[in-house]
Amino acid sequence: MNAKKLSRRHFLSFTAAGVAGMILPGTLEAAQRGHTIATMLDIESCINCRECVKACKEANSSKFPNPEKPYPEMFPSRVPVEDWSDKQDVSNRLTPYNWLYIQTSKGTYNGRNFEIHIPRRCLHCQNPPCANLCPWGAAVREVSGTVRINDRICLGGGKCKDVCPWLIPQRQTGVGLYLDLMPRFAGNGVMYKCDRCYQKLAEGELPACIEACPMQLQTIGPRDKILAQARELADDIQGYIYGDQENGGTNTFYVSPVPFNVLNENITTGPGKPHLKPVENTMSKSEYLTAALVGAPLAGLAAGLLSHKADKDAKIDTE
Ligand code: SF4
Ligand code: SF4
Ligand code: SF4
Repeated sequence: MNAKKLSRRHFLSFTAAGVAGMILPGTLEAAQRGHTIATMLDIESCINCRECVKACKEANSSKFPNPEKPYPEMFPSRVPVEDWSDKQDVSNRLTPYNWLYIQTSKGTYNGRNFEIHIPRRCLHCQNPPCANLCPWGAAVREVSGTVRINDRICLGGGKCKDVCPWLIPQRQTGVGLYLDLMPRFAGNGVMYKCDRCYQKLAEGELPACIEACPMQLQTIGPRDKILAQARELADDIQGYIYGDQENGGTNTFYVSPVPFNVLNENITTGPGKPHLKPVENTMSKSEYLTAALVGAPLAGLAAGLLSHKADKDAKIDTE
């Protein structure tokens, strides 16, 4: 992270949007050519209006879980029942029905008060442990750098959440393939998180949260260009970047006038509320590297079998 000194203007809140600019030219073509796409967030510009949170919910509501009740009792009850179906309006943390929320950090730095709002969601890691270590091949990293969980074959065991440094994916019980396979013994639902609005991107549209933001504080584009833009903004405001190094590098770059360790000391963390600490590259740990190498072919095979089963069930349902 950049460690330059702050100037006075960086503490002014509610300023007009800075250099953020939505979508860079050539983004969709770059994604189609197999280039990685990333997002930059100029968080000093966030006014906590939550239009992005609302837009995310609206755009993705058709993907939200619709669980069957009552839930089968698990044996052994190792994987807990997690039911958010009666709390779908919760918007102050990540849930299966809320893939983005605004985290506020309020405090003092260098003798000045600050209040910064941070849109939090999956960072779409470059080398994502959630995708590399999913035993069923349900979590995948696409060539564009989008990391998403296939809800048709996820069994809800939650390995993706356990290995994510920010514990991002969220489980909903009573939905998904485990109900047809081994309702009492396998998984316990499906894991959900931001999928970067991959269908909208494929159709040449902006992700809903980027489009809805009145401050236009997010910019999406080819990773090298976005990273250069993030560094330029950080230089301009004598600020700091989070997401360029964390977990070996992600496809989300937060730029802030206040150091992220200070922001982290002044946020509420816990279930569904990720931290902002430095994060080492999870996949450089030898046990994870070995698990990924050994598990990848099996995960591929499992994904194929589970997809086949899901397709078969869907066909029977429509007959
Ligand atoms: S932030 Fe977590 S859930 Fe998102 S890609 Fe990285 S490891 Fe996976
Ligand atoms: S990219 Fe799409 S799914 Fe992800 S937080 Fe934004 S609106 Fe939600
Ligand atoms: S819509 Fe933009 S300004 Fe409003 S809360 Fe979301 S990121 Fe912040």
